[in-house]
Amino acid sequence: MHRAQAPSGRFRVLLRLATAVIGRLAGQVDRIAMAVVVFALLSGSAGYTLVQQQPISNVAAGTLVPTGGDGGQAVTSMAATAAADAPSLRVARVAPYLEAVEPKTSGIPANAAIVMTFSQAMNRPSVEMSFAIQPKVEGRFVWRDDFTLRFEAFKLGYSTTYQVEVRGRSHRGVPLSGSRWWSFSTAARPPNVLAPGRAAINVPILTYHYIRVNPDRNDRLGFALSVTPADFAAQMDWLARNGYHPITTEDLYAYLKGARGLPGKPVILTFDDGYSDFYTTALPILMSHDFTAEEYVVAGFVGQPGYMTAAQVREADRSGIEIGSHTVSHVNLATASLGAVRAQLSESKAFLEQLIGHPVVSFCYPSGKFNASVASQVAAAGYHDATTTWFGYSHMLGDRYVWTRLRVSGGEPLDQVAAAVRSAS
Ligand SMILES: [Zn+2]
Repeated sequence: MHRAQAPSGRFRVLLRLATAVIGRLAGQVDRIAMAVVVFALLSGSAGYTLVQQQPISNVAAGTLVPTGGDGGQAVTSMAATAAADAPSLRVARVAPYLEAVEPKTSGIPANAAIVMTFSQAMNRPSVEMSFAIQPKVEGRFVWRDDFTLRFEAFKLGYSTTYQVEVRGRSHRGVPLSGSRWWSFSTAARPPNVLAPGRAAINVPILTYHYIRVNPDRNDRLGFALSVTPADFAAQMDWLARNGYHPITTEDLYAYLKGARGLPGKPVILTFDDGYSDFYTTALPILMSHDFTAEEYVVAGFVGQPGYMTAAQVREADRSGIEIGSHTVSHVNLATASLGAVRAQLSESKAFLEQLIGHPVVSFCYPSGKFNASVASQVAAAGYHDATTTWFGYSHMLGDRYVWTRLRVSGGEPLDQVAAAVRSAS
């Protein structure tokens, strides 16, 4: 309700309007706990500091003291105007408070945003610096306007109780008052209904490259490699509607080793090459479904035009995406020397591990090119698994360095993708 009168620019113009504002405030005396003078509203722009606070019923006029600068003349005349226009000046400097927060219940999805609505326009840096969430989680701040802040965690944990606290001050420098912390709990991850113990399992591993509208209509290869954002979103919607649960190749490896179970109808979404549209386009769609995926990054291309930056790769990792290696420079490993193969495998692994801060254990052969020697080098370099461009969907521990995939091509109708996934499950 204070929103209409909040932007300080409106006050800057004229004290004349103060009369109207005062009238509104006077009607809300019960909501005004700390009453001070309306001139404080002007202090930010006119350079004056409020030095006297009085109960609202007593306020006839405040005392303003110049804090320097060239505004001395201005305040004198404004005060004179105010005295003339509003002989019974009664105004408050109201403390901002939280009007609404969400979420604050249990069973919250891991992709939910935390939203705070303030009663007044807030000083953004002061709010951001005060924001605290326990357990800690990385994320970003998005202001809709000065009244509404979203904290978008890259990913919340499952089955976790979070406590959130926010402070900060309004545009006018008044600290947030009232209740400033709340808590909520997230939902459990999808249950692992497939018990480990099977030697082989059908899991469609889908291959994507670009998620974009192919920019060059004459580029046939580019078209085939480009699934449009709309098609991709429709495919993800279909997977969600039909009860599929995206996992990573590391999840599949752990399952086949007997270490843990898998959710029902597992599927793996892989993206080759580390293009920037994975971050800008695919990731938000995946996040909105609470889907994980696998991104095979070419280490030497990180930060180059058209590819994800280091910060984007790190954020994808924090969002629950498995980062795998796709070599240093997308070489043909089948024709490279043994020394070159080893360098491509180990240097890309080390680079990506340094970037994301934990082991990188999955690999993908560039252009599907490899041979038996290359595959054994992938194992020797410490990777757990590798994917190819061979077609297939039945996977075992013993063939984990030649796991097969299903390519999703640009322009494929949803029915066709759905049929391929169904028949591979
Ligand atoms: Zn590639």
